[in-house]
Amino acid sequence: DLYPVRRALLSVSDKTGLVDLGKALAARGVELLSTGGSAKALRDAGLDVKDVAEVTGFPEMMDGRVKTLHPKVHGGLLALRDNDDHVKAMADHSILGIDLLVVNLYPFEAALARGAEYDEMIENIDIGGPAMIRASAKNHGFVTTVVDVEDYDALLEELETNDGQTSYAFRQKLAQIAYARTGAYDAAVSNWMADALGETAPRRRAFAGTIKQTLRYGENPHQSAAFYTDGSNRPGVATATQHQGKELSYNNINDTDAAFELVAEFDPAETAAVAIIKHANPCGVAKGATLLEAYKNAFDCDRTSAFGGIVALNKELDAETAEAIVEIFTEVVIAPGATDEAKAIFAKKKNLRLLTTDGLPNVLEASHTVRQVAGGLLVQNKDAGFVDMDDLKVMTKKAPTPEQMKDLLFAWKVAKHVKSNAIVYVKDQATVGVGAGQMSRLDSALIAAAKSKRMADAMGLDEPLTIGSAVASDAFFPFADGLLEAAAAGATCVIQPGGSMRDQEVIDAADEAGIAMVFTGMRHFRH
Ligand code: 5GP
Repeated sequence: DLYPVRRALLSVSDKTGLVDLGKALAARGVELLSTGGSAKALRDAGLDVKDVAEVTGFPEMMDGRVKTLHPKVHGGLLALRDNDDHVKAMADHSILGIDLLVVNLYPFEAALARGAEYDEMIENIDIGGPAMIRASAKNHGFVTTVVDVEDYDALLEELETNDGQTSYAFRQKLAQIAYARTGAYDAAVSNWMADALGETAPRRRAFAGTIKQTLRYGENPHQSAAFYTDGSNRPGVATATQHQGKELSYNNINDTDAAFELVAEFDPAETAAVAIIKHANPCGVAKGATLLEAYKNAFDCDRTSAFGGIVALNKELDAETAEAIVEIFTEVVIAPGATDEAKAIFAKKKNLRLLTTDGLPNVLEASHTVRQVAGGLLVQNKDAGFVDMDDLKVMTKKAPTPEQMKDLLFAWKVAKHVKSNAIVYVKDQATVGVGAGQMSRLDSALIAAAKSKRMADAMGLDEPLTIGSAVASDAFFPFADGLLEAAAAGATCVIQPGGSMRDQEVIDAADEAGIAMVFTGMRHFRH
């Protein structure tokens, strides 16, 4: 299953390592074919190279749109060397076999990342490159396909080990990598066009990404994992700059994403806001006149859980907030920027990871979320559901006061980012109790209240902060029990979608408890 490499075609946009590779191949007596810019680079390094134009008898034309799209090239890549008809066709048409293809594609993703205009993006769609890669990879019985600069060394090692030949297993492995590359490339093109067109339908989505990082492991040490970017260049953990600290782990990335998406709910032009996340659920969220105030209030919601948490800020990290954050162990901090002073404070905590971005995620944008199920993928638009004061319907005899209304809307925004069943108690624009991920709404209400009580005891307060709080439920109360539990914890107003068969029972219970309740008409399941 060894096959010799006698002739190679090199056509690369990223010229990194090209000359060294060309030299090593030439030293093995491999004949080099190449396209315009690649040929020039090789020739400038003193190598003997044949232009593909000479092979095809056609000049490169139409600004490089047509360079290698020719039977002399594709025949040379696709011919089965052990098939008499194919060999005869090669002889009849003077087609020479190409045994090695080295291609990397026009940098479409890089153009996307720098926000290139439509026409420039179009010119960055490579046609001949993917065509050759697909042809060569299909013929991996004979032909070796290299699409990644990182694989040059492995190629040279393989040739060294096998005396100028490659093994079937090696060619097959590279063919698999090649199709991953062309698949991801076309997905990036399609998703860019979808964004340009405003096409948000999940059924029109292409799936693939560009590898960003091979992770040390997944959710657990026995799971391997990788991190991909989706080419959309949206502000967030995938496009953030890391200033210090260890490499991000799988769980860090997941939690950081949850934290930043949550804090992005709060417009920095209106307020400072901080979210502290553990295991993808918030253990404290608060607004404040300053980031420091917001951080302190978020921290006070659940000081126990905040230890080892992920902190997201909706504004540039400043020195005073940085000082407060380093008082306890924090895994990751993410913010749309950080002052030099803040960075200097963090520099003393070398395990703390600091990430900054160019802005906040757009929470109202109709992007997608994807989840794997056995044998399939579940795709949906991101939950960009939003309710305003005007969308709320007062269902009880009592209506919320303007102050209560503010806390209700705050609680509702937070509840959207808490695993269902979600119950969130809020007082003065800060969470004071969060119940997440329970299988019954009653348990979430109980847990949130119990945590708040424990926190009050630890802080030496006279009473839990849930007394006089606003409470949000991400979906309707199926029975009155959850609402009654919230009332027992001291909540004085409730926000929930409504829509239960027993709504009237719940409304009556609220009236009896002297609680004001509003319906949103929209739920925020997050499973
Ligand atoms: P060079 O810098 O050598 O002139 O061009 C290399 C690039 O051209 C590679 O990225 C390769 O994928 C691409 N390429 C090779 N053949 C063709 C072709 O026929 N059409 C187009 N559009 N691109 C090609």
